[in-house]
Parts: sequence; C-alpha cells; structure tokens
Amino acid sequence: MTSKEEPQHRTSDQQPEWLVDLARVINDPGYERWRAMVTATGGCAHPVHLAGESLIVNAASGEVLHSYRTADEPSGRLLVACGNRRASVCPSCSEVYRADTFQLIRAGLSGGKGVPQEVSAHPRAFVTLTAPSFGPVHTRREKNGTVRACRPRKRDKVCEHGRPVGCHAHHEPTDERLGQPVCGDCYDYVGAVLWQAHAGALWHRFTLEVRRTLASEAGLSRREFAKRVRVSFAKVAEYQRRGLVHFHAIVRLDGPGGGSEIPPDWADHDLLTRAIPPAVRRVTVASPQAISADGI
Ligand SMILES: [Zn+2]
Ligand SMILES: [Zn+2]
Ligand SMILES: [Zn+2]
Repeated sequence: MTSKEEPQHRTSDQQPEWLVDLARVINDPGYERWRAMVTATGGCAHPVHLAGESLIVNAASGEVLHSYRTADEPSGRLLVACGNRRASVCPSCSEVYRADTFQLIRAGLSGGKGVPQEVSAHPRAFVTLTAPSFGPVHTRREKNGTVRACRPRKRDKVCEHGRPVGCHAHHEPTDERLGQPVCGDCYDYVGAVLWQAHAGALWHRFTLEVRRTLASEAGLSRREFAKRVRVSFAKVAEYQRRGLVHFHAIVRLDGPGGGSEIPPDWADHDLLTRAIPPAVRRVTVASPQAISADGI
C-alpha cells in the first residue's frame, strides 16, 4: 500500500460499516433503478427475486412488441412484493392487505367502491369461524386488568408423556410460549395442519351450506330462494396466536338484482341467525389423510 492511500483507508475504517455500505449503494450507477423497484414493492421486507425474461409477441406477424430481461436490471433480478398477510413476516405487505381488506369490508357494509349505498340497510350477520381445539396451548388471559395463570391444574398431574398438564405462569404478552402447545406430543399437529390445508375448502362449503340452509329455513327450494334473494359473502382470513387460520365474515342478504335491491321482508336478520349456526355445524371436508389416520 502506498502512503497516498493510507489516509483513505483509515477514514473508511473509522466510519461505521453501515455508512460505508450506504455510501457505496447510493453512488452505484444502478441505485435509482433499485430504489424505484424497492418503492414499487411498497418497502416489502422479503421481496421475491425474479430472474428471467418476458416477451410480448404479435401472434400474427411474430414481431416482438416488447421485451424485458431481468439480466438488464442492475442486480440482474426483478423485485416483487412478497404479499404476505402476517405482520410478523412482512409489516409492509400485511399492512397493504389489512388496509385493502378494511376498505372492501367497509364497502360491503356501508357502500362505496362500486357497492351501492343502499346495502347499509340490508340484513347482514358478522360471523367468526374458528378452528376447533387441537390441544391446550399457552395463553394469556386477563380478568379485571389482572393477568391470570395460563392453565391452572393440579401441579402433580402429568400427561402420558410425563409433562405437567397445567401451566401456572402469568405470561407476558411477548412470551414466546404463547400459542405453543402445553405438550407438543399431546397436541394434534396432524389435525392442525389438515385444518389449515382445508380452510379454503371449508369456507367454500360454508357458503354453499348457508345458501341451502337459508332456503330451507325460508321454506323454499334453492332455486326459488335464489330468484328472490342474493346472498353475498365477504371474508378476512386471520392467523390466531396458535397459528391457525380463522375467518371473519359478513353474510349479507340482497334482492335478486344485488346490492342495489332490498331483499323481501322475510329475508331478514332473524333468517340469517336461524340459518348460519346449523350451516356451520354441517360443513365437513373429508381428507384421505384423516381417514387413514383414523383407520390405523
Ligand atoms: Zn412483503
Ligand atoms: Zn403457559
Ligand atoms: Zn403429552
């Protein structure tokens, strides 16, 4: 190293590492493009890095109208937002999802975003569909502002794996045990995974079953019911602390023409409350895994 270079070397040594990195990134010729990409992802914490190319070709003439290659990007990749709905995974994408969902649900309740204002007077039910218990998990419960013991049981009572069945801790909100099974071997992980895997199918069947039950409660065939009432659904899937999906949903009754038409008088809130609980209880999805697990 020459004596001329030494002061430079010493200077960068004295600067914090992040500052050196920052200076390098900002002075990079590809910085502006990189910044534009990061901005386009909305500041996603874990963007997906895509590599490849796309061509738009005129099918008749074979002429290439537009081409794009990630190889031409400064980093050789295209950044795309991860779209994750969990704030713990990506604060930015989950916030976008939350805000979008809020607007959609709000429009479904009170109109807006292409939904007529009249819907605010239509009968609707707010429903929460939750997974069954797959075994006890650590919880934080408060009563009158006091944190209670997680799962008070006799202290000497143990499960078949020799672990205490209770937990006398008063968990802090940040306790990593919250949502974790009290005994991992007792916990029905297979059931939990199957619930998660079939949550979409369960939801779909719920919508069919609600329509069927509404019709039978109204004393009509499904066909006749559908001529008079349209049933609209809006749902938000959320992860509970125990990691399972649950749904918050709005079920709304409209006239046959949709949100701009009021439904007949008999299609009221009472009809919804009579139809939804039995419909929920009737929804099942059989899975090959569950059948074989029971059969063994
Ligand atoms: Zn993201
Ligand atoms: Zn506990
Ligand atoms: Zn156990």
